[in-house]
Amino acid sequence: MSGGAYAQPDGPPLARVSWDRAGLHRTDEAWLAEAWSRARVLLVSPQSATPVDADRQLASVAPQDAPDGPRRLLGVVDGEPWFTVPAEAPEGSDWLTLREIGAGLPDLAAGLVATAIGLEQWHQKNPRCPRCGHETVEQQAGWVRVCTVDGSHHFPRTDPAVIMLVHDGGDLALLGRNPNWPVGRFSTLAGFVEPGETLEAAVAREVFEEVGVAVRDVTYVASQPWPFPSSLMVGYSARLDGRPDLELDPVEMAEAGWFTRDEVRRAKDWTDTPHDGAEPGESRLRAIPPQFSISRFLIEQWLAAGD
Ligand SMILES: [Zn+2]
Repeated sequence: MSGGAYAQPDGPPLARVSWDRAGLHRTDEAWLAEAWSRARVLLVSPQSATPVDADRQLASVAPQDAPDGPRRLLGVVDGEPWFTVPAEAPEGSDWLTLREIGAGLPDLAAGLVATAIGLEQWHQKNPRCPRCGHETVEQQAGWVRVCTVDGSHHFPRTDPAVIMLVHDGGDLALLGRNPNWPVGRFSTLAGFVEPGETLEAAVAREVFEEVGVAVRDVTYVASQPWPFPSSLMVGYSARLDGRPDLELDPVEMAEAGWFTRDEVRRAKDWTDTPHDGAEPGESRLRAIPPQFSISRFLIEQWLAAGD
């Protein structure tokens, strides 16, 4: 890695390493052509799948083996340029999605493919100008779309969402179950930031809307790009302020509750163990999110604070 790179090895998956994105070269056609000639190229499909090898690691291709298509510059790592090109998965191939392979990828590979997928998702969803509705075309090595009629420039979008571990200041954490999740699986609360709102205000609003309690001491913990399709998850801890009694939003929350560290540790062990269909028993909290997610990272931080 070189200029503009940053590492936080203990951060959440997809957020542990960045690299030189070489933004100043995106308009330099001569530089881009030379870089392409010696690049490593990641292919990503519109369904966010990518080729992998037998060990479920990213399989980059040489530029001469890449399909025709827009060449999007991901950046330069240790002097080596990385590009991504959109591609359809060949018939019968076993391309996998980031959700399927993300937890097993090295930090740099996970970050590169998350960026490639985030870009592809944005291009897929924005073929037209949001001002006038006419066609836009891709320029600057994939990092802008320009309207063919009014010339307006449109840049890749990232939608901020907050995700928060709410605790009582002691040994209890508040976890909820989305109506779409299986019985027994709980997670931290989360929601999108609204226009005109700070991140901290969004934390307090979402907690109140979803479970009816007030919080204070809203404290930033970590962030994680989440390209499904275009979120940036901003992780917080927050402390209960007042009564712990829950009043659930029936649309967002199937159930929610306060759980001790021992209960959460048992659910964590269950989540991380292969089961062959065995049932986890009757406990209300049986599983928590997988290690790939920032929700899990926030839960782990809270568990460690009680050690
Ligand atoms: Zn336009």
